[in-house]
Amino acid sequence: MTLYRGRFAPSPTGPLHFGSLVAALGSCLEARSHGGQWLVRMEDLDPPRAQPGAAELILRTLEDFAFEWDGAVMRQSERSETYAQAIAQLHARGALYDCACTRKELSDSALVLEGERVYPGTCRNGLPPGRRAHAVRVRVPNHAIAFADTIRGSISQILEREVGDFVVRRADGLHAYQLAVVVDDAAQSITDVVRGADLLASTPRQIHLQRLLELPTPRYAHLPAAVNALGAKLSKQTLARPLDPARAAATIAAALAFLGQAPPPELARAALREVWDWSLAHWNLDRVPRQHALPAPADA
Ligand code: GLU
Repeated sequence: MTLYRGRFAPSPTGPLHFGSLVAALGSCLEARSHGGQWLVRMEDLDPPRAQPGAAELILRTLEDFAFEWDGAVMRQSERSETYAQAIAQLHARGALYDCACTRKELSDSALVLEGERVYPGTCRNGLPPGRRAHAVRVRVPNHAIAFADTIRGSISQILEREVGDFVVRRADGLHAYQLAVVVDDAAQSITDVVRGADLLASTPRQIHLQRLLELPTPRYAHLPAAVNALGAKLSKQTLARPLDPARAAATIAAALAFLGQAPPPELARAALREVWDWSLAHWNLDRVPRQHALPAPADA
């Protein structure tokens, strides 16, 4: 049997919505169809953005939707020492530098590439005189970082041109998502990351950090992101509706349809156990649409 370990890694910025269900379901079914394990990690490393009670609500909602995860939930809020060790390791390799740029300066000066800001490298060769360090950035290479996404195919990015040196420790002292996710995927021996396509463009950054930290690179599969009628990704900011446990079976059936699995229409009215049985028996990643984003069902 092949070893497979997948995961779902929600950020507790609000309740789960249809888009989060798609990521949870896709990662869980893909793991189970390989006879693998499926872990849950709470990405609560950003207290200013966390909503009180959201982490517990997310876990309760997963239970109400009859998700079963392996082992204890890892919580990023308890792991800052491990992230600090990774920072020290990157430092020792000469991969990091202090950055004095403020948000305001960056928004004035950063190059804008397809809506994303590229850090122009202002502090790369040392802080300007008299300036204090805010964040810590990692140097990025000017060659392409490529990987084969199981759903989206060959993906390649030249980080220097498309992203710039990026932050691994923020001005407020908190560790950045890109660093924590890499450290934790390795710590949990994750072999396969299945998640929303909104994180596709983060993957080359994560591979860069894996290489610097000499960590294995998991396989990646990016599911279409669920968007609303205006084309915006479902999120707390876009007022996505929280998942309703009273409609768990019908919502999972809708998520299966979103993921191209063509469930029979009557599955939407079946018992939750039956929906899971059907899902586990029929899940096929090859049927997932190879699109970046798809509209969520109107009632989701
Ligand atoms: N915590 C991230 C989010 O909720 C997901 C991280 C990941 O799957 O790598 O968007």
